[in-house]
Amino acid sequence: DVVLEQPQPIAATPVPSVKITNRDRVIDPDTKVTKGDLADYYAAVAAIMLPWSGHRPISLVRCPQGRAKQCFFQKHDAGSFGDAVHRVAVAEKDGSSEDYLWVDDAAGLLTCVQMGTIEFHGWGSRVDALERPDRMIFDLDPDEGLDFADTKKAAEFVRDQLGEIGLASFPLLSGGKGVHVVVPLTPQAEWPAVRDFAERFARALAQGHPDRFVATMSKAKRKGRIFIDYLRNGRGSTAIMPYSARARAGAPVAAPVTWSELRDLDSAANWHVGDADALIARANAPAMSGWGIADQVLPDL
Ligand code: ATP
Ligand code: MN
Ligand code: MN
Repeated sequence: DVVLEQPQPIAATPVPSVKITNRDRVIDPDTKVTKGDLADYYAAVAAIMLPWSGHRPISLVRCPQGRAKQCFFQKHDAGSFGDAVHRVAVAEKDGSSEDYLWVDDAAGLLTCVQMGTIEFHGWGSRVDALERPDRMIFDLDPDEGLDFADTKKAAEFVRDQLGEIGLASFPLLSGGKGVHVVVPLTPQAEWPAVRDFAERFARALAQGHPDRFVATMSKAKRKGRIFIDYLRNGRGSTAIMPYSARARAGAPVAAPVTWSELRDLDSAANWHVGDADALIARANAPAMSGWGIADQVLPDL
């Protein structure tokens, strides 16, 4: 008899020795998810999250008193993160240099949680090749009137248009309203070329289909349309990292999905902080094995 092997979940990384204080503090009033729950979530998903969020400059959405109170977006090292959170000096336009944060293990993620972090945003390049993105992202932001079916159709359309020029792409549920179409890149072209490509691609799409897409940020022009946000692709810009929790109602998480799964989903916030086991099992299922992986460079546009 042929015994089919079941995919084995990646073992959760051993709980790192990061002391989490105020474990009972509620960080999402809607679900009563606590800081301790969030720490447990990140400890559990570290092994599936770090391949996407590790080794790259990160910005943190920190909400020390929970998402109902004040949150702030932290880009630079404030000197209080200890050794598990690493630093990389990044040259700024004016010639000065700023330290950005990066992590490479569960202890790094949990140290950030201990500091009140809920969301992890990251650059599209890694610390060992800061100037050469390994990811291009089209962040699809639907106007308020649109429903998720419109967003899904738009994402598939972007996928098809990218496919026409030979680029494979993968959907990421943002955990909020939209879908990000992620294009893995061999780190070769530098930021200006990638940003320029993303902008021209987005503008062409909006020009060809002005009823469905806009490529400008203006909310007024978005009426009934989807903003194809290419601005994630500038040097120093960030996007939500796969498996990051969101500081939004219901404690949702950003989740990579396959194109065929996307068809059956009815929200970009399909999983939440309580779903670590399901996310790990999914991540190890055969359908997800190639997610986000493609050795490809941008064609001329
Ligand atoms: P949604 O699907 O609901 O749009 P999203 O993560 O795509 O979720 P956006 O508002 O479209 O949210 O994207 C904003 C992006 O800008 C984030 O991905 C983040 O990396 C970045 N960002 C968020 N807050 C700040 C901030 N205060 N300063 C600079 N950049 C920010
Ligand atoms: Mn968005
Ligand atoms: Mn956006």
